[in-house]
Amino acid sequence: MTFERSEDYELVTFVSLVVLFGVLEAVAPARQVKRREQLPMDLLAAAVALLGVSLTRWACKTTLGPLAPDPTAPASGLGVLSALASLPSVLKVGVAIVVVDFCLYWVHRAMHTAPLWRTHMLHHSPEHMYWLAGLRTSLTHVAMFTAPQVIVPFFVFSTSALEGAVVVGAINVAQFVTHANLRLRLGPLGRVLVMPAVHRLHHAREDHHRRNFASLLVVWDRLFGTYQDPDVIQGEIALGLQEDRHRALGLRGLVGV
Ligand SMILES: [Zn+2]
Ligand SMILES: [Zn+2]
Repeated sequence: MTFERSEDYELVTFVSLVVLFGVLEAVAPARQVKRREQLPMDLLAAAVALLGVSLTRWACKTTLGPLAPDPTAPASGLGVLSALASLPSVLKVGVAIVVVDFCLYWVHRAMHTAPLWRTHMLHHSPEHMYWLAGLRTSLTHVAMFTAPQVIVPFFVFSTSALEGAVVVGAINVAQFVTHANLRLRLGPLGRVLVMPAVHRLHHAREDHHRRNFASLLVVWDRLFGTYQDPDVIQGEIALGLQEDRHRALGLRGLVGV
């Protein structure tokens, strides 16, 4: 394997996260999870998700690739893109992560409106939360979530393969953390980052259309009035779907149309 392409870094990150969260949840699970019951669907959906990521990346790079500036070439001109491309590496990666996460907040919020809900139903179908259940995403959901993760770092900020992989890696870490079956709080960081209990509330069978949409930075929910503190909820909440459950788990649910 070479590390010339961001996909190589991202694959290593993904495999590391699978191992890490698999071990952490085995050692200190927050709740007992009936994994065996949902494993076939989770594996099928994860395979669809990985296919969707590859297809979306290919589509973005094929259509936008010829327009992308060369990240190794010195920045030229006075345009915004040139200014962003010439930012110091750490700053560029940090700002790109915030911009991607901001986009994902609004994409996710849009998915909870009537025209796009069918793209997202599958993600809300699990009745028990653990790292693999979080990968339940339809093809269209994956496309809508992956596109900003390709376009923003590689075509707006002209990141190198490694810089781009760090941006995507941060979102991937958030994906695993927010769906983890772990009691994770992280002290003051929990006021900035989305913790599992916050996203778990988003997966509640009731009221999932109106709260806790953020992926990485919980500040978006606080800023745009969609934050709900999980500590105010008494007792266990039921997860999953009611009337849409059948539709979500069918072929159209997998495709998201
Ligand atoms: Zn949602
Ligand atoms: Zn989720």
